[in-house]
Formats: sequence, structure tokens, C-alpha cells
Amino acid sequence: MKAGSPGAPARHSQLRDLDYSIVQQCMNCGLCLPTCPTYDATKLERHSPRGRIALMRSIADGQLEATRVFGEEMYFCLGCLACMTACPAGVNYAELFEHARAEVEESGALATPQRNLIRAAAIRWLFGELGRLQWLGAAIRLYQQLGLQTLLRRSGVLRWMPQRLRELEALTPAIQPQFSADLIAPFTPAARERKYRVALLTGCAQDIMFSDVNRDTAEVLACNGCDVVTPPQQHCCGSLHAHNGELAQARDLARRNIDQFPPDRFDAIISNAGGCGSHLRHYGTLLAGEPAYAARARQWDAKLKDIHEWLVQIGLQPPPPLDAPPQTVTYHESCHLAHGQKVTTQPRQVLLAIPNLKLVELPESNWCCGSAGIYNVIQPEMAGQLLERKLNHIVSTKAPIVATANPGCLAHMINGIHRRGMKVRLVHPVTLLAEAYRRAG
Ligand code: SF4
Ligand code: SF4
Repeated sequence: MKAGSPGAPARHSQLRDLDYSIVQQCMNCGLCLPTCPTYDATKLERHSPRGRIALMRSIADGQLEATRVFGEEMYFCLGCLACMTACPAGVNYAELFEHARAEVEESGALATPQRNLIRAAAIRWLFGELGRLQWLGAAIRLYQQLGLQTLLRRSGVLRWMPQRLRELEALTPAIQPQFSADLIAPFTPAARERKYRVALLTGCAQDIMFSDVNRDTAEVLACNGCDVVTPPQQHCCGSLHAHNGELAQARDLARRNIDQFPPDRFDAIISNAGGCGSHLRHYGTLLAGEPAYAARARQWDAKLKDIHEWLVQIGLQPPPPLDAPPQTVTYHESCHLAHGQKVTTQPRQVLLAIPNLKLVELPESNWCCGSAGIYNVIQPEMAGQLLERKLNHIVSTKAPIVATANPGCLAHMINGIHRRGMKVRLVHPVTLLAEAYRRAG
């Protein structure tokens, strides 16, 4: 059955055009409510998954138009997908959420000249080509290496700036001295008997903020019998675009990735970023209507593996216990790794394979830290509340090392621990594994 009541406007609508079996899945049981961070904070039905789905369904049924209030609600949602894990009816909230945000953008419900300009520059232009982001990253790196950032922060000038600008300046990430293409050869041969040939996706934000994690991933894969193909010029996965209402550009980037990494040439296509991986493994849905890509996109989804998932699948080679220092680590689960990809046990298995490592469970380990893509930029208040809650739990574990597998979570929590002056190391699980292999030579 297709959505739309008699007399409903014929305007193209992302939600009205969505498969109605997805729109009508929710049975209003409310079991998702306790898992939703925005409902937990406000106790308002409209800020819950059930309330949001009801709004989306009203639009799909032609009973409601996308208004400013609807748009604000869709952007107050973190897109953390905790509600999907909790839902007994299997509601595909990820699909609803992407189409709802696309509805907001296409209807212009939140449009202002300033917002349109920022979106065109940041989402469509900057993240449209990796070279542009790398150029910006290199400029910020120079600004940081010359000490200008430190000078600005110590000078007191920031006090005279508007609060919003001060908040944004505080979010400026530390840029790596080298990007992935400088650290990883286009081809890394297996360090032991070759069993697999894999492609490594180096990402966009990951590439400029955590290229060292990409290098560690290539090394760990080689240590586990994989030839690793890592082209120096890659494309953004498109998750930022899909989660922010730019589905056409997300499809374009999906096509470019499939062209660059034909899935029939690899045993696996590896992602080490929870948020990217969650989007990357759904190219089949994104390109379902395109005969030239649909079959390859489904093959791509089957080959797309999170790095922890892949290492456990192929039988991770534990590092020898030579010179292994005792390490106490706690693990924060990236929402899109846990709820989007359902990869929960494997990162813990990877950590526990490291000799002399003690894993302490983090309370509410799969509760969003507030990063959520660009949520910490557009909803700083709620993102800040969630970050404080996460940091309090980290303190309660007394662990000096926090492992997490998503660049957004890493950057957001690093900002938080610096602000609080906490003596905690934030690190990707794969980096801890790579260090253990290096110690053993
Ligand atoms: S995605 Fe997260 S914030 Fe949004 S409704 Fe679901 S649980 Fe709540
Ligand atoms: S989304 Fe799922 S858990 Fe939440 S109210 Fe609907 S059916 Fe129940």
C-alpha cells in the first residue's frame, strides 16, 4: 500500500515516497523510550522515537506538512539509533530518519540565507571532495603548529567574541602531522602467509584527525595475513550527507566508492570508523533504484566489514606477550557501531586479545556521548549534557585508557577530558593492538 490520503498534495515528498511498510512499522509500544537520550533528558513524547515516528507518519499520510517545528524536532534527534536496538517490532528508524531530514531540507522548513550558505559550504562543497577537506586540514595544522591557536586562546581575545564562536573555536580538532596517504603505501603486503586481499577505507574526518589509526589498521591487517589496498585519493563515504538530508549527494559518493573499490576484487572492504561503517554497509538500499549499481551495491554491502568484525571473523592472531605492560582499559561503544552495525562483542574480543590488558566495563557504554556526526556543533547544549554524563562514567571506572572506534566520539571526548583536565588517554582499539604487535617486533 502506498501512503497518501485522498486529496493529499501531490508534491514530491521523501516520506510520502518511502516504502509504506517502513512508515507503518511502529506499534506504539514505547519500549524504545527509556533508551532514547533526548526523551530521557526532557520526558517529552515529541522528543521520543515514538513521537518522532508519529510525526513522520503524519507527513507520509498527507495529514501534516513539514513545518519548522517538525524540522527542529528532526534535528534534535541524535540519530544514535539506540531506539532500533530496543525496538521489538524491528522499526527501521535509520531509514525513516534519513528520509525525514531529507524532507526537512527539500521542503525548506528550516531554510534561512545563513543556514543555506553554511550547508552549501560545509556539507555540499567541503565534504564533496576529500582534497578540499585536506586543504582545510593543512591550513588548521599550520595554524596549530605555528602556535597561533595557543596564542589566541591565551590572549583573552576569545572572551570578546560571541559565545557561539567561542564554542565553535573550542571544537577545533587537533590535525595530524601527516595524512593517511603519507603514512600508508597504496599496497601493504601481508606480513605473514597471505590469506586475504582487502581494501582499506581511510575516511575524510578520520584521515585528517586520526590518520595514525588508519596506519595502525593497515599494519594490523597485514599482521593478520591480509594484503591491504589503500589508494591515496579516496572519497567521503557520504554518511554526513545522508544523515543531513542530502541523499542525492550521498548516492553520488556511494557510486564513486563502488567504482573505486569494485567489490568483486576484494575479500573484504574495511572501515574502522563506526559512523562511516554504519552508512557504508547500506549502499544497497541507497542505490536500489539504479540498475547500473544495484547489484554491485548489494555485493559491496556483503563485503563491507568493520575492522573488529573482520579480525574476529578471520581468527585474530593474538600478539605475543613479550614486554606487555599492564593496561586497564574501558570501552565506549560508538552508537553507529553498536546500534547501526550491531558490532558489540568483537571490539571487546580484540581488546582482550592484547596481553596483560584488563577490560573494565563502562556504565552505559552504548549511551550516546553527544558527538553524533555534527550534533555537537548544531546542538551544543544537549551534546554537552551527554558528554558530561559520559565523562562521569569514565571517572567512575578509574581506567586511565578509554578505547572507542569512531573519530567523532574520539574528538568529542578528547575535547571533554582536556576541558576537565582529566588524565585519560583516548584511543582506538586497533591502535592498542598495533602497539602490542610492534612491542613483539
Ligand atoms: S535515534 Fe537516538 S535520539 Fe533519535 S529517537 Fe532514536 S534513540 Fe532517540
Ligand atoms: S519504535 Fe519500536 S519500540 Fe518504539 S514505540 Fe515503535 S514499535 Fe515500540
